[in-house]
Amino acid sequence: MLKRVIVATALLSLASPGLHAQGRGGQPSGPQKTTAIRAGRLIDPETGTAATNQIIVTEGERIRDVGPNVPIPSGAEVIDLSRMTVLPGFVDTHTHEAMTYKEVPENNVYYYTYVADSTALRAIQAASNTLQSLSAGFTVICDVGNNGLYADTALRAAIEQGWIPGPTIIPSGLIIGTTGGQFNPTPEMYKSHNIVYPEYLEANSRDEIVKAVRENLLFGAKVIKICLDCKPWGYSVDDIKLFISEAARGGAKVNAHVQTRDGAQRAIDAGLHVISHGQQMTPEQHAQMAQKSIYLASTDTPFTPYRGSAQGQKRAADQLRSAWEKGVPITFSTDMDYWNEKMKKANGEWLDRGELTINFLLTWKAAGIPPKDILKALTITGYKAADVLKDQRGPIKAGFYADIIAVQGDPLQDIDAVRNVQFVMKNGEVFKKNGVITIDKLLHPGPVNGFGRR
Ligand SMILES: [Zn+2]
Repeated sequence: MLKRVIVATALLSLASPGLHAQGRGGQPSGPQKTTAIRAGRLIDPETGTAATNQIIVTEGERIRDVGPNVPIPSGAEVIDLSRMTVLPGFVDTHTHEAMTYKEVPENNVYYYTYVADSTALRAIQAASNTLQSLSAGFTVICDVGNNGLYADTALRAAIEQGWIPGPTIIPSGLIIGTTGGQFNPTPEMYKSHNIVYPEYLEANSRDEIVKAVRENLLFGAKVIKICLDCKPWGYSVDDIKLFISEAARGGAKVNAHVQTRDGAQRAIDAGLHVISHGQQMTPEQHAQMAQKSIYLASTDTPFTPYRGSAQGQKRAADQLRSAWEKGVPITFSTDMDYWNEKMKKANGEWLDRGELTINFLLTWKAAGIPPKDILKALTITGYKAADVLKDQRGPIKAGFYADIIAVQGDPLQDIDAVRNVQFVMKNGEVFKKNGVITIDKLLHPGPVNGFGRR
């Protein structure tokens, strides 16, 4: 056994120089593809303004240049979006790609999904869901738990390595909670930890908190998700601060499920990065969030034929409106993780996961938030909450990854234009053009971007 370990170590050390020779992130070196996009209208969501007749040149995975008079390099592929509005990709700051709870067999009780669907099945659901989300323009997705045994970190690795195209996934791994997590397990479930665990990782003491954070980081988490007040005992301000400092050691921020007013106050006092849900917050707490630049992912379920109620949408819209008025950095977030037979359009066609996700616009419109601020929530504020700006991902700027989408019409005038994404480029590769997904060149029989990419 020992000999085998030594041989394996020797093989690994032989492999490492080769990895370096492959270049950044294990990506193969060689000539980079150049593309020039003619943008009829280019939106800057930071300022809520648009420039006309712009040219964006991409080289490999990144944007090389943007402007009205940028020369088109010889040999570049030219993409004509001169009749369209071009903007950077969208962010969903709270969803669960490897979770689809249903009326049958689990009667919409998501605890039972854990029993009915294996992690392997859910990982394949996640692959399909992310393709649908990318088609709707979502180039960054915060996938915050409830993904079986790390289906989310596997999904990120598969996309980064090039097995399938997809958005940039910011996975949390398992949700960390106090005893019982978000469930009410029976003694049989709890004692043996065979059913509904691994959906939650339990951590009560300070040692357990440190260990749980490290375990998630070890298995590929890029954000730490905690269930802050799912139980009356919950986490204290000191506990939350420990989560924040331990996560920071692995380069991750903390996002918390917050359902009570008292829990929200502890999250604010501890200086959390993202508060998820937070539907019980007061206007004073919104003001404190704004002052501390704490991001809100309020998962604002709209009233539709397949989900929600008029009253529920009104409550969500009122909360969103209050947060917006107080200047909270609000983000677009959904919890879009279910399916039923009513998810169809008037013509009988199924709605896909991307269409269902962008349909959360209904609540934003009900809240009376202006289009430019909805666009900012979908993009700039989302990049900050997802913490991807440090990786040069998000805005359409020279040096940044080329995550670019285009729609018909002008979303600064009519926000519903964002429902009809006609073009998607991810990491410099065209995923969708003229409203049609074209991934034949983006499917590979192996890790073309290097197996080291996580
Ligand atoms: Zn959720």
